[in-house]
Amino acid sequence: MPNTRAAMREVRAEGGWGVVNTGYCSIHPSSDDSPLPNCRLWDDEDIKVHALMVDAVHRHGALAGVELWHGGSGTGNRLTRMPLISASGVSSDSTYPGWINLARSRPMDKQDIREFRRWHVDAAIRARSAGFDIVYIYAGMNFGPYQFLLPWMNKRTDEYGGSLQNRTRLMREIVEDMKEAIGETCAIALRFSTDDLLKIPGETMQSEAHEIISMLSDVPDLWDVKSSSWVVETRSARFSEQGAQEHLASFVRPLTSKPVVGVGRFTSPDEMVRQIKSGVLDLIGAARPSIADPFLPRKIDEGREDEIRECIGCNICVSSYHDCVPVRCTQNPTMGEEWRRKWHPERIPAGDPETSVLIVGAGPAGLECARALGQRGFAVTLAEAREELGGRVSIESKLPGLATWARVRDYRTNLIQTMGNVDVYRGSPLSAQDVIDFGCDHAVIATGAHWTREILSTAGYPVDGFEGDAVFTPDDILAGAEPQGPIVIYDFDHYYMGSCLAELLRQRGFEVTIVTPANAVSAWTFMNNEMADIRKRMIELRIAIVFEHYLTAFSQGKAQLASIFNEDDVKPIDCGSLVVVGVRAGNDGLYRELKSDTDRTKDAGMISVQGIGDCRAPGAIVHAVYSGHECARTIDAGDSIQPVAWERARILSR
Ligand code: ADP
Ligand code: SF4
Repeated sequence: MPNTRAAMREVRAEGGWGVVNTGYCSIHPSSDDSPLPNCRLWDDEDIKVHALMVDAVHRHGALAGVELWHGGSGTGNRLTRMPLISASGVSSDSTYPGWINLARSRPMDKQDIREFRRWHVDAAIRARSAGFDIVYIYAGMNFGPYQFLLPWMNKRTDEYGGSLQNRTRLMREIVEDMKEAIGETCAIALRFSTDDLLKIPGETMQSEAHEIISMLSDVPDLWDVKSSSWVVETRSARFSEQGAQEHLASFVRPLTSKPVVGVGRFTSPDEMVRQIKSGVLDLIGAARPSIADPFLPRKIDEGREDEIRECIGCNICVSSYHDCVPVRCTQNPTMGEEWRRKWHPERIPAGDPETSVLIVGAGPAGLECARALGQRGFAVTLAEAREELGGRVSIESKLPGLATWARVRDYRTNLIQTMGNVDVYRGSPLSAQDVIDFGCDHAVIATGAHWTREILSTAGYPVDGFEGDAVFTPDDILAGAEPQGPIVIYDFDHYYMGSCLAELLRQRGFEVTIVTPANAVSAWTFMNNEMADIRKRMIELRIAIVFEHYLTAFSQGKAQLASIFNEDDVKPIDCGSLVVVGVRAGNDGLYRELKSDTDRTKDAGMISVQGIGDCRAPGAIVHAVYSGHECARTIDAGDSIQPVAWERARILSR
């Protein structure tokens, strides 16, 4: 997706980032992570694809970097079907979490090693032709050169195995080869993972990580230090604070005179300054903070810290990588749409100040719609039934570990309160008549959704659930309902709610069992890298989990479960209260009423009635924010559906 990536990275350069990098960039077809979105520099044809991004980044005075990557046995080669290669033929976790490669890798012989070095040099020369300023060698994350460093991956008996010096040889050779080939004009950076090597005691120093950095000290021009685990590196806010990778980098700086960069979901300028002043890092690296706010550096520079759209650490962006689509972000609805929809994170076309818009509901959808319409200059009124703004975000951010999610609300309410053209009315539940009487050009209904009591039938679709005082939904529990223990949570939503409620109720002292038809707890969180952390927490809190079962009956302190593989295989379980976490339904009554009464809305002079967010299609917060933003961008066209441009592979020449 060259246009999508170039435009996305151009916005970051414009936003003040000093260097903008590609993601991992394969140097050869023997390192192919398809269908996951890795880029390529396999031949000269690929140069122009990258030049597009480099030129875009350079237009704003930033440097462009490319992460040259060979995965060794840490990839899949699913598309190219070439055998995997590695130091000694040891299989590795693929970059797809938890998926061990089906194929064993082929041990590299001397010719392979020569080729491996040549591929790096060839790709580096292509990178220079594309105009890159910084060219990386990716020696981390269980990828090719890193595998040579690890004694359990590298069992060689030649000069590339055995002693640490031998295991480091290939990495050193590649850095030196690349310096010789392009070092006059490009910086050569080494991306290096330290966590495994920190655990191996060194001969002369505390660990092999210390020894490697000392050995190579000033050989690369830049050290980029990180975890070897994609799950650790991307740990969500539910399970880690910002700056949590400090211990992986803090020992490096005294061992080299070259600059050190590291990541850590940094969103607070104070924490960035602390890491630099205390000697941990020279340069602040970021993926998620730059996704949530591409203009973060510029806002710091201009003293506009309170306008930073802080990452909430939800990892929806991580899930979009696993979905093989452009990056999506809960906080930044323009992410990935810079080229396709020409959406800019800071700029938006001006609207008509005479046009009035009434938004009903101040959850993430309504708030984002009000913020963006306010920025466009429309005359906006936002009416919220409750006293508190934020909708589900205000409620769910009180769940264990989700406090950062309130940033979705706070970023928007902070900006809205500075806008003279946006009026906010709290404690104002509106009826259809209220909306009509109000008299606006456009009405936007953002009234959210609610959890139902429907359960999953043994045929695999939702049916009417159980009634009674002992049956609860997440809305009930979050509104302060008092269940009786022991509690059974029947979770077929598979995202965070089931396990967060389990945690909350356990903290209150209840015995809790999660029953799920899936074979994992919070099964969808495989996609956003939270699944292992959630499972660990459930074990720590002694929350019981019954996998692969439907809930088929509930009465008088007992629930009945049936195996998803054999519905006759049933078992009873003690259950004082049942919490059903399954289906959400839109609160679309107001929307439907207004939509069906076109006579009255037309008579009132209304141009359009639109439904956005969970009210129209219940989803995750990312969907609600996107929907609110989309509505604000397209409201001029009323409620007609806007076509979206698609980037497609086309034949450019014959
Ligand atoms: P979304 O995720 O789509 O933004 P939420 O459920 O988070 O949805 O927010 C919906 C908001 O709409 C809630 O804060 C709710 O109180 C408010 N709301 C629902 N019905 C009305 C109404 N008739 N008038 C005003 N506000 C409403
Ligand atoms: Fe942060 Fe969530 Fe956006 Fe990712 S999707 S950058 S974790 S707010």
